[in-house]
Amino acid sequence: MRITKIRATPVAVPYRTDETWAFGSRSGMVSVLVELDTDEGIVGLGEAAAYPSAEIVLSVLKSVERLVVGADPFRIEQLIQRIDVVGTWHHVKATSPAIAAVEAACWDIVGKACGQPLVNLFGGRFRDSVEFFYYVAAPDPDTVKAEGTRATAAGFTTCYLKVGSDSLDIDIERVAALRDGIGPHMNIRIDANEAWTAGTALRAVRAMLPYGLELVEQPVSGRNLQQLAYVRGRMDVPMLANEACWTRYDQLSVIHNGAADVLSVDNQMDGGLLNLKRSAGLCAAAGMTVLKHSLGELGVALAAATHVIAATPNFRHANQAYGALLSDDIVDGFGGGVDNYRDGCLDVPTGPGIGVALDPDRVARYARLYREHGDTEFSFQHPRALTTGLALPKH
Ligand SMILES: [Mg+2]
Repeated sequence: MRITKIRATPVAVPYRTDETWAFGSRSGMVSVLVELDTDEGIVGLGEAAAYPSAEIVLSVLKSVERLVVGADPFRIEQLIQRIDVVGTWHHVKATSPAIAAVEAACWDIVGKACGQPLVNLFGGRFRDSVEFFYYVAAPDPDTVKAEGTRATAAGFTTCYLKVGSDSLDIDIERVAALRDGIGPHMNIRIDANEAWTAGTALRAVRAMLPYGLELVEQPVSGRNLQQLAYVRGRMDVPMLANEACWTRYDQLSVIHNGAADVLSVDNQMDGGLLNLKRSAGLCAAAGMTVLKHSLGELGVALAAATHVIAATPNFRHANQAYGALLSDDIVDGFGGGVDNYRDGCLDVPTGPGIGVALDPDRVARYARLYREHGDTEFSFQHPRALTTGLALPKH
């Protein structure tokens, strides 16, 4: 079998409410849907987060086209090695989502050709469903509380809250409001996206301790592992590394420096589903648990990762997904909207390959939305981020 063509379609899907973090803001999500045609009629489906932008994803896809077209989709290791080495993409993390989408689409072809869901090709079902968090992206404490109540009603067990984009007092108010909304038993995970200094991080976590925190994600810079280890050693809450460990090479450094308790791993930032499995294996060897990070993704990329997570033992925490924020999706029964989740979990798809299919009407609708607004309201370069980004880090 040979790959005959790469087709790429950027789509923009609006959020229910804006997403704001320490360094940015956006009103929806852009993804690039990738379809690989083959000479045997099987079409492989993949998806790349538009990171850092859809234009860059499309450029990377164009640049690897001559390596991908003509390749055997079963020879995934060989194809990715050629892209890494011949294409020299091993130097560049931020352009990885396009390559990851090609890799996932190859796996979709393999699964469809074999008549097997991906979970059966990645080790089989260690678990039948995969847990995800509820993303609380609300600016004021009253709305944070209401979102917490919505998360509880929908059956989620972990809420995720961004901190670090406002004063510490406001962040503490938000955490208190969230605990008020969810009651005593649900997990609260906070993510500062590197915005704090070591001193602020320690003060913040101490002040938030009465409200109960599950994990503190990347409170300080990911580029100074000694500082991360210093903060970790003085906190009474487990530390989750994110910006410190985008790739397996970074993860190895975090492990060697004792700079985290839990690592987030990301197939989009590290070149594919095989590397997601390898990341988890690296951490398992170090006695560490992992969870999947998300740059923001729709149902295709989410379903692809769900297969690998289901087949890998040390994914022991609620993983990242945007179901609570997204108003819709481009596949049925998976991804955007809390109605797709049962007790915060997604069932592993049972169809061959990734096991989801694009809805042509919604793809057309959101492709149009991308063409009209994608590069502004829905991108990582949202206008509000452009006007506020220079002041950070500010604590
Ligand atoms: Mg993070």
